[in-house]
Amino acid sequence: MLLKYHINRFLHLIVAYKSLITKRKFERRWRTTCYNRARGMFQTTIAKESVAEGVGLHTGVYGHVRLMPAPAETGIVFRRVDLDNFPIEAQGHNVARVSYATSLMKQGVLLSTTEHLLAAIYSCGIDNIYIDIDSIEVPILDGSAEPFMQMLEHSGVRKLRRKRRYLKILKPLEVIEGDRRIGIYPADEFRVRCYVDFPHPLVGQQEVEMLVGPETFRYLLACARTFCFQRDIEPLKAMGLIRGGSLENAIVLTDDGVMNGPLRFPDEFGRHKALDLIGDLALAGLPLLARVEAHKAGHALHTQLVSRLLADPSLWTITTGEAARPERDPYLTALSPAPATD
Ligand SMILES: [Zn+2]
Repeated sequence: MLLKYHINRFLHLIVAYKSLITKRKFERRWRTTCYNRARGMFQTTIAKESVAEGVGLHTGVYGHVRLMPAPAETGIVFRRVDLDNFPIEAQGHNVARVSYATSLMKQGVLLSTTEHLLAAIYSCGIDNIYIDIDSIEVPILDGSAEPFMQMLEHSGVRKLRRKRRYLKILKPLEVIEGDRRIGIYPADEFRVRCYVDFPHPLVGQQEVEMLVGPETFRYLLACARTFCFQRDIEPLKAMGLIRGGSLENAIVLTDDGVMNGPLRFPDEFGRHKALDLIGDLALAGLPLLARVEAHKAGHALHTQLVSRLLADPSLWTITTGEAARPERDPYLTALSPAPATD
């Protein structure tokens, strides 16, 4: 039954892989594209709570995370349960540090490495949720968003009686730093294109282009793990980072291979960068109707784009699902038999 369900979901996808051999020194070029249907027109939350626990990648602090249902118009809100449920909204104005992970801070209260959990929640079309955490960092778990997807599947989705509001982009905005750039452009759906280029035999040029939705995220990105280069480990530790890093929660690249294979996808690195991008775009605070293109970007550029976007209301408008795409959401259809409620 479960197998049939997954096969049916998989059949919704049209996936095309192209591997292009280029003349460059290292390069085997991967291009992954995927499209699925748009999301529903009503706000959602989760149907029941789910929990996970583990160590934080950068701080090494062990913590527990609990996903909780939230009423309409709440948005995505972290709550530090070790600090009297202090709320930190997952919104651009709360972005603090963005070096090797995205951290939020409000009134001096910090929460690190939010991007993988936010990517799963945002891609699944969960508009309202409390994320209760008793530490300073979201657990890294296996380095991907797969454990968070399992939490969300355990929780299920509940539709609320309130129209979903979208952030619809009206004019393009680009942020450029040297050969790195990111741009957001008008579109009727939420689509991302992410391009990476690392001079390494297993990476090279990788590009992911997809319509963002629960199914595309589930099958294309969720499993893709974070990675680092072996030569960077000591410098990062010297900076006080990756204290919780291990071969169980990150791919470690040696000069010519990978220390802890096998890879989950040949282009797992490009896919993980697309996952990070979506997690950072969640900080827009509402589902996007936009096309986002990231070229060798990272957390700093992703969050700069979101901040500049939100700071200029002439670039966007807020619209409801009717104006967007009133199609049925396949994920909601599959996972949320619970009746609509507020
Ligand atoms: Zn990441």
